[in-house]
Amino acid sequence: MPRDPRFDPLFAPLKIGPVTAPNRFYQVPHCTGMGFAMPETLAAMRAMKAEGGWGVVCTEYCSIDASADDLPSPYATLWDQGDVRNMARMTEGVHKHGSLAGVELWHGGFRSSNLLSRATPMGPVSQMAGKAPVQSRRMDLADIRDYRRAHKAAALRAREAGFDIVYVYASHGYLIAQFLNRDINRRDDGYGGSLENRARILRELLEETKEAIGDRCAVAVRIELDDEVSPGSDPTGEKRALFEMIRDLPDLFDVTISDYGQEMGVSRFHGQGSLEPFLKDVRQWVGKPVVSVGRYTSPEAMLALVKSGTLDLIGSARPSIADPFLPRKIAEGRSDDIRECIGCNICYASDIQGVPLRCTQNPTMGEEWRRDWHPEIVTKAAKTAKVLVVGAGPAGLEAALTLGRQGHEVMLTEAARELGGRVITEAKLPGLREWIRVRDYRAHQIGKLDNVSVYLESHMSAEDVRAIGAAHVLVATGSHWRKNGLGRTHLAPVESFADPRTLSANEIMAGKRPEGPIVIFDDEGYMMASALAELLAKEGRDVTYVATAGLVSAWSFYTNEQHLVQARLIDSGVKIIVSQTVAALRPGSALLKCVFTGSAREIPCGGFVPVTSREPDDQLWRDLSEETGFSVQRIGDCKAPAFIATAVHDGHRAARELLGVESVKRDRVLVEVAR
Ligand code: ADP
Ligand code: SF4
Repeated sequence: MPRDPRFDPLFAPLKIGPVTAPNRFYQVPHCTGMGFAMPETLAAMRAMKAEGGWGVVCTEYCSIDASADDLPSPYATLWDQGDVRNMARMTEGVHKHGSLAGVELWHGGFRSSNLLSRATPMGPVSQMAGKAPVQSRRMDLADIRDYRRAHKAAALRAREAGFDIVYVYASHGYLIAQFLNRDINRRDDGYGGSLENRARILRELLEETKEAIGDRCAVAVRIELDDEVSPGSDPTGEKRALFEMIRDLPDLFDVTISDYGQEMGVSRFHGQGSLEPFLKDVRQWVGKPVVSVGRYTSPEAMLALVKSGTLDLIGSARPSIADPFLPRKIAEGRSDDIRECIGCNICYASDIQGVPLRCTQNPTMGEEWRRDWHPEIVTKAAKTAKVLVVGAGPAGLEAALTLGRQGHEVMLTEAARELGGRVITEAKLPGLREWIRVRDYRAHQIGKLDNVSVYLESHMSAEDVRAIGAAHVLVATGSHWRKNGLGRTHLAPVESFADPRTLSANEIMAGKRPEGPIVIFDDEGYMMASALAELLAKEGRDVTYVATAGLVSAWSFYTNEQHLVQARLIDSGVKIIVSQTVAALRPGSALLKCVFTGSAREIPCGGFVPVTSREPDDQLWRDLSEETGFSVQRIGDCKAPAFIATAVHDGHRAARELLGVESVKRDRVLVEVAR
């Protein structure tokens, strides 16, 4: 279908200093968990974004030398010629599709703990480092000179590697932002004190980068719009003054805000376009191209920003992860095919855990090189087969869609009245509305395939499955939350939990409510227990949240929302008890035990909701697993309860591997063997 001409402004080229972006779709720097450790994986993933139409594709934060090391989070590096070679793999991949490649030169300042390089961390002051209880040294003038030299050398290597846009990275609390921050930077030399002094290093780096590579590369600055000292505002007008001070230096302003929890906000707390209130004047201040993010998945919203002159380029990290082909889909008049990001931050969690990027919506993310998966193309099956998929949760839906695209004759059967499985109920929890996109995207795409038939309200028994006569059966029947306490803490069922007061998370989500004060026991650590606590507290109930961990939803640290979740429960009036386990139910009470000392106490309990672990619903698979007339496999939560992302990936993998297991490459350094 041709593009709707209304969207033409999104496809107008834009000159950025000496280079020209082919369109307004700009993949801003985003971390990947691949970094220097997995150059092939990284290059293939970035190239895929360019193939999908992103006019600019940037690296993640890219360290300039060994004085800036952020392991265990893997970052990119431009330390030496080896890095130039590895990074060139990425720029070549991006250029092949006519896009520009950008690199975000990074120094973490005192936030780099340097656990790999063992270089002493350094910053404008001696401060606590990011990932260890160690402090930085206060940079002296020689350090500042060395840093500037290293930055310039890295910029030259960036040009050699083929980058078109080179960043001076002045935000997110890293080294340059530390110099800019008037609370942090209390130096009494020419680099501290007045705004002019605090901005000196930024100005020098911009000038030196431009001088070194500005002939061929655009110089971008990534910088915050609000005042780090008063997040969300600029009470002294200092930020505006800074923008005006440096406006002539960079070719591009990549603007953000100091609250990373908002910028990288999960949809539970922040919707599309959450930075917009900050953006309205910046283009006037700087008179240069401006890019910013807002987890935009709506082409209309993107168009409005460009047409109104708020932004020149639509910055995107997560929407480009969830759908590397978002621009192409708009270009081809197929906006309804966009696979929208759900704002869960499972992608971000990968990097923080030090593992390659994955995505709830896009199972091919991070698999472009390793498994040769393309987000839009699956190979047509040489020989098509009749395949039955039982269960239409994330795993079953993704499997049915992928099998359908391969050309198989697919039957998707679902016991419920609706497609979606777990996401139907989870998306109704407070703030999780966008999660339904997992279902909506797949249901819509399946609806376009004549060879996939969907049967709702069709609970399948083993007998029913046999009667279908399929050559292959994928069992995607999901899981349910246990009520018996089994989990990390209780390795055997807790007898006293078999009590009428005990309700499972599924029962609460289905609308059942207990009488009296409710105790929610979180031994899992992700979102379920806290979301139920919020839901019940909002209904005016007396809720106590008990966690074995030391924090509310402790694992949500990785999705960058733990602090927001804990604040939400405090604000909702939920009583919070951490580092305690619910050891037993007693008449009228729950018996808690301290996880450290074992000391016991009782709290009132009229209703009890254990969120400890899930039971795979695999009876159908067990009934069929000895079958010989057709192949049977279980997928998703029915195999092993995990994230939605895991189920989607497993459904996708099972479809691709229906007729044979794929080979999986490993991205690693191999020693050279003398022959
Ligand atoms: P996953 O995350 O692995 O996709 P879900 O729990 O989200 O798992 O989805 C499982 C789906 O399977 C649910 O919608 C459930 O109604 C359906 N289901 C479970 N058992 C059967 C069955 N025997 N026949 C048909 N559908 C089933
Ligand atoms: Fe969006 Fe979640 Fe995918 Fe990240 S993992 S890109 S937040 S859908």
